[in-house]
Amino acid sequence: MEKIKLGISTCLLGENVRYDGGHKLDRFLTDTLGQYVEYVPVCPEVECGLPIPRESMHLEGNPDSPRLVTIRTKQDMTDRMVQWARNRVSALVKEDLCGFIFKSDSPSSGMERVKVYNEKGMPVKRGVGMFASIFMEHFPLLPVEDEGRLHDPNLRENFIERIFTLKRWRQALTKKESRGIVVDFHTKHKLLILSHSPRHYQTMGKLVAKARDLPLKELYQKYQTLLMESLYLKTSPKKNTNVLQHLMGYFKEQLSSDEKKELLEVIDHYRKGYIPLVVPITLVNHYVRKYDQPYLKEQIYLHPHPLELQLRNHV
Ligand code: SF4
Repeated sequence: MEKIKLGISTCLLGENVRYDGGHKLDRFLTDTLGQYVEYVPVCPEVECGLPIPRESMHLEGNPDSPRLVTIRTKQDMTDRMVQWARNRVSALVKEDLCGFIFKSDSPSSGMERVKVYNEKGMPVKRGVGMFASIFMEHFPLLPVEDEGRLHDPNLRENFIERIFTLKRWRQALTKKESRGIVVDFHTKHKLLILSHSPRHYQTMGKLVAKARDLPLKELYQKYQTLLMESLYLKTSPKKNTNVLQHLMGYFKEQLSSDEKKELLEVIDHYRKGYIPLVVPITLVNHYVRKYDQPYLKEQIYLHPHPLELQLRNHV
């Protein structure tokens, strides 16, 4: 797979662009995820023309429509930032990004729970950074996260699954236009979708079954929207157990009674939280190879991202 293009807050790459001349290098993003990703750095404060170092800013006023104001001299930077951000997101359309990683807590780049100060100087953590807000409004279905949330293994896994899937979808769309693209993509992603949302699994199955009834562009657009909505929903041990049992159905005839017992035991241990998901998945993959299951070999659920990212490894 080609590298996945992701937008990122520039300071997370170790660039000295922060108000104090420092950076916020995140080694997981640069050294580990960076092997699979081509980053498009964006520093709203520097790119809108502010110097390094500069006076620090915060959000103030109404948390739903805050102003961006320098803390000491009270200069209002809102209009400057909004105008720059609108132009920047329009330019980013060309980059074909599969997602964005924001710097948490920043009044420009934070994607959620950013402090907004009222007239008494008291903060509420309800704001969104000014650039992040305009970006998310412009690209409502693109996966976004901040580096703080990516330390949570479940959120990290979910974000990475979404960016890899969106990249595969975009690559599929580079082939000659046809309904077959959607049918083929859906066949391979069925179990991944089921692990996130049984409801979307049903709806998308119906959409694909009636693919001929829709104009092609509309089919692509509807499918992509449902795909991104489904993967946004978190997997859970209950949903994964359902998928694993579903997978086991394909081996019913071939597994020996010992193999069946072992697999059921491993799935049950995963469901109870004793072992991580990677254990039953590894065992299923072993049987897929052993019994040469062509349909399951193609299932992205069994290998949605590179092993080196060490996901599905937590309980
Ligand atoms: S948080 Fe955003 S605005 Fe602040 S230095 Fe980092 S990239 Fe620039």
